[in-house]
Amino acid sequence: MTHYTGAVPAAPRPTDWRLLGACAGLDPDRWFPKPGNVVAVRAAKSLCFGCPSMLKCASHALTRNEETGVWGGLSEGQRTTIRKKYKLHQLENPAVLEAAVYEALHFELNPTETLRDVWDTNTYVLPGGHLGWSGASTSFSFHGIPITPKQLAFLLDRGRKAVGIVRRAPECPVVECVHPQHLLDADERRQRVAAAKAARAATDLAA
Ligand code: SF4
Ligand SMILES: [Zn+2]
Repeated sequence: MTHYTGAVPAAPRPTDWRLLGACAGLDPDRWFPKPGNVVAVRAAKSLCFGCPSMLKCASHALTRNEETGVWGGLSEGQRTTIRKKYKLHQLENPAVLEAAVYEALHFELNPTETLRDVWDTNTYVLPGGHLGWSGASTSFSFHGIPITPKQLAFLLDRGRKAVGIVRRAPECPVVECVHPQHLLDADERRQRVAAAKAARAATDLAA
């Protein structure tokens, strides 16, 4: 006797990423914490970071504009940042999506990395004693705090946060230079102007 019925066996279907997710079967509310509940967001993210569906989940949320909750380890703010940086069609490319997600989560996935490590990894020497920056030139997020390469240079060198915008000093002609000694914050620019005025006044008096 045979069990053959003549029916074509159904082709195996790819399993839905949701069913493979680390949150499958758990209370979905855990991934939709109340605004400001940092502890709950962290708890949700920690499960996402070990989830085999993390990138598919992130892709779903980014391309469908999911506004609330933790998806693919990304908070609402992190998804907004990615959406501002990348166009939708770019995020449909798996390689771009993966790079965007891991860039956003870099410091959470590498919690022992310090700002000094980031500086050492991303700077390179330019001719004439200037320093270049090989990472994202605009700004990056360090544990949720946005910082630019020039602000980082200033912070590590002066041991304090910059006041206002950090700009190249007029003596440095290299647009991309991040050498801390070639940078000035708003306070230092003000001090320079005041010192120049005082020097001029002293010269006038002596004349
Ligand atoms: S990444 Fe997070 S939210 Fe998405 S399926 Fe996995 S555990 Fe669930
Ligand atoms: Zn310079």
